[in-house]
Amino acid sequence: MADSGFQIIYVATSNPGKIAEFQLGIRLWQEQSGNAGQWVVEPVAGYNRLPPCAEDSPTFVANVQKKALHYSRFGDGLVLADDSGLEVDALRGAPGIRSRRFAGPGATDADNNAKLLLLLSGVPAAKRTARFVCELALAQAGELLAQFRGVAEGVILDSPCGSGGFGYDPLFLDPESQKTFAEFTREEKLLRSHRGRALRAMLDWLATQSSERAARFQSGGGA
Ligand code: IMP
Repeated sequence: MADSGFQIIYVATSNPGKIAEFQLGIRLWQEQSGNAGQWVVEPVAGYNRLPPCAEDSPTFVANVQKKALHYSRFGDGLVLADDSGLEVDALRGAPGIRSRRFAGPGATDADNNAKLLLLLSGVPAAKRTARFVCELALAQAGELLAQFRGVAEGVILDSPCGSGGFGYDPLFLDPESQKTFAEFTREEKLLRSHRGRALRAMLDWLATQSSERAARFQSGGGA
C-alpha cells in the first residue's frame, strides 16, 4: 500500500451494483468518521476473462479467503472478496451459503422467498429470528491481509413488505426501526446492514494501517 493519494480496492466481482454499494459505503464512512476521501473501488481488471474461482467451501469465511487469494494473484493491487447470506435459526442456519440458490439452480429472489416462507409456515414470530452475515477478505499478491465479518440481526416476516433492495430484504425485519430492509433507502440499509458493518470494520482497519505506516515514515522507519 502506498502512503498518500487515492488507493484503489479491486473488488472480485463483475456486478456494478455491488461496486456502487461499496462506493456509497465508503462515502458514508468518510462522512461519519471524518476521514478524508482516500479509497475508491473498482472491479478486478478483466474479471470476466480471468480463470473463475469455485465458491465451493462450506463456510462464508473459507469462500471469501479463497476468492480474495485467487484474484490477488493476477496483479499486485489490493483485492477485496465478499460473500453474504441469510441464516435462519428455526432452519438451523439455512439457507446460509446456499442463500442465492436456496430454491435450486437458477432460482429467482421470488422463488427463494417463497421457499423460505413455506419452510417457516406455522413458526411463531418469536421463533423467526435470523441474521444476515457478510464476510469480507482482503488479499494482495497471493497473501491474505485481513478479514471482516458484519452481522445484522432480524426477524423473518410471514409476508413481504417494501419494494427496495433485493434477495430476502422484503421478508427481513430490522427490530429497531420496525422496517424491513426493503423499506430502507440505500443509505439507511448500508448504515444497518451486514455489508455496511463489515465494510466499516474494513475501512477502520485500512485507516489504522495507513496511519501506522505514516507514523513509521515520520519516525524514519521507512515502509
Ligand atoms: P452475495 O454474497 O452477494 O452473492 O449474496 C448471496 C445471496 O445472499 C444473495 O443472492 C441473496 O439471496 C442473499 N443476500 C445477501 N445479502 C443480502 C442482502 O443485503 N439482502 C437480501 N439478500 C441478501
